[in-house]
Amino acid sequence: MSGQRAVVVGGGPNGLTAAAMLARAGWDVEVHERLAVPGGAATSSDLLGEGTVVDPGAASFPFGVVSPAFRDLRLEEHGLEWAHAPYPMAHPLDDRPAAVLHRSLEETADGLGRDGAAWRRLHGHLVRDIDAHVDNLLGPVLRVPPHPLAMARFGATAALSADLLTRLAFRSPAARALFVGSAVHTIAPPTRPLTAAFGQLFGALGMSGGWPVARGGTGRIVDALVAVLTAHGGRIHAPSDVTDLQEFADADAVILNLTPSQVLRLRGLDVGPLVRRRLERWRYGPGVHKVDFLLSGPVPWADERVAGAGTVHVCGDVDDVRRAEAAVAAGRMPDRPFVMVCQQQAADPSRATGPAAGRQVLWTYAHVPHGYMQPKPGFVRDRIVAQIERFAPGFRDVVVDAVEHSPAQLEAWNPGLVGGDLAGGVMSGLQTVLRPGFTLRPHRLRRGLYLASGATPPGAGVHGMSGHWAARAAIRGSAG
Ligand SMILES: Cc1cc2nc3c(=O)[nH]c(=O)nc-3n(C[C@H](O)[C@H](O)[C@H](O)COP(=O)(O)OP(=O)(O)OC[C@H]3O[C@@H](n4cnc5c(N)ncnc54)[C@H](O)[C@@H]3O)c2cc1C
Repeated sequence: MSGQRAVVVGGGPNGLTAAAMLARAGWDVEVHERLAVPGGAATSSDLLGEGTVVDPGAASFPFGVVSPAFRDLRLEEHGLEWAHAPYPMAHPLDDRPAAVLHRSLEETADGLGRDGAAWRRLHGHLVRDIDAHVDNLLGPVLRVPPHPLAMARFGATAALSADLLTRLAFRSPAARALFVGSAVHTIAPPTRPLTAAFGQLFGALGMSGGWPVARGGTGRIVDALVAVLTAHGGRIHAPSDVTDLQEFADADAVILNLTPSQVLRLRGLDVGPLVRRRLERWRYGPGVHKVDFLLSGPVPWADERVAGAGTVHVCGDVDDVRRAEAAVAAGRMPDRPFVMVCQQQAADPSRATGPAAGRQVLWTYAHVPHGYMQPKPGFVRDRIVAQIERFAPGFRDVVVDAVEHSPAQLEAWNPGLVGGDLAGGVMSGLQTVLRPGFTLRPHRLRRGLYLASGATPPGAGVHGMSGHWAARAAIRGSAG
């Protein structure tokens, strides 16, 4: 035993990763989670009735499956199983075949016709050296990257906007849409600098590790993290809503699995003025409006291959995506929003069993302005339905039930989803990489107090890497 004591505030995937790492290193660890069960935005429930498995937050895991933190904790030995759909992603288009991302660079490029060679040129080095790129990118940006040459090669195009890069590199609507759809996972207009980085990275991850779901539901990732934690003697207090840090004054390390505005609300927060200013300057971004559907059968996609895609980007061509994201960034609800769809059942049939056998559970959200309040119930749901219907005529007829969560409802469930922002703070401009603000030690607020959330590098997503870096900072801090 190291004899050190750590308290983790918040039982999301980052908090639990930090807790599991510290417990494994011999620390005495307790996690305090405000809800009755841990998991944060990475849980599962039977929201659509007995026999259904619904993921109220995260659904598919291009970063999770390659995460060094998750690999290090050997989550597969604790019950986690990744399940892959036939295709990681598809992007349907009006009146033409959908663009499809395959698990291989060659197959994806072959499907893109005259843009195949350009697709290979842009993604070939990333797919070949994906582990090096993951090492470089899933950590703080202000450091010497572990693989500088790979970083330099990636940086040459990553700094551009996705919109510019697609216009320079591709000629076909399919290749352009496939790239830009991935780029806007950050919920920022694809005309902004650095958005090309996400287009390239998400694509390359799909063509290597894939974009899998967790068999049995996203909650299985959390179950595996909890299993590692408890196997090493860690404890979870839930529900336990922490409001005052004085309670933990005697701990060697307190790790906050929170975003900056939540941190600033804590009583007893003892940080220097520079740190406080960085947290106060933190900006939150656009939100999502989530709708989970129960269907009587599969989505009747016009291009049948789309049924085999785990993730579907529903918006239309690049012009449609640009218009939708520009409206959201300007605070307006678009008529035709960008809709993220996850078809977990294409990978994992266990999502509808027993009384729900034969049904389909369809996970969707639309990008909406920060804190968007719809004028009447069902308003955003209807826009999501119209967008899917556009590429899957007859979709309306298979909808049996739907449960929706507005940005305000998401935030009431999980206070880190401020205004529905699932990234823990806007992923655009310098804030994309400098999280939270300009500092060489982004996971350390002061000695003994650490930050582990999507507001720190490498940013949003269920990969546990922010927790991993915060735990490393705590171990280093306790030694010096
Ligand atoms: C609708 C939606 C879809 C998403 N889709 C994906 C996806 O497909 N793939 C992906 O990788 N990511 C996705 N994400 C993002 C991903 O879920 C988050 O980036 C991730 O969960 C962040 O993890 P975290 O541990 O930092 O924080 P969280 O998951 O937010 O966990 C923080 C925890 O802290 C607890 N807490 C807060 N305040 C207190 C307090 N004062 N005391 C005690 N406990 C407290 C909360 O209850 C929560 O459990 C999605 C998010 C949402 C909302």
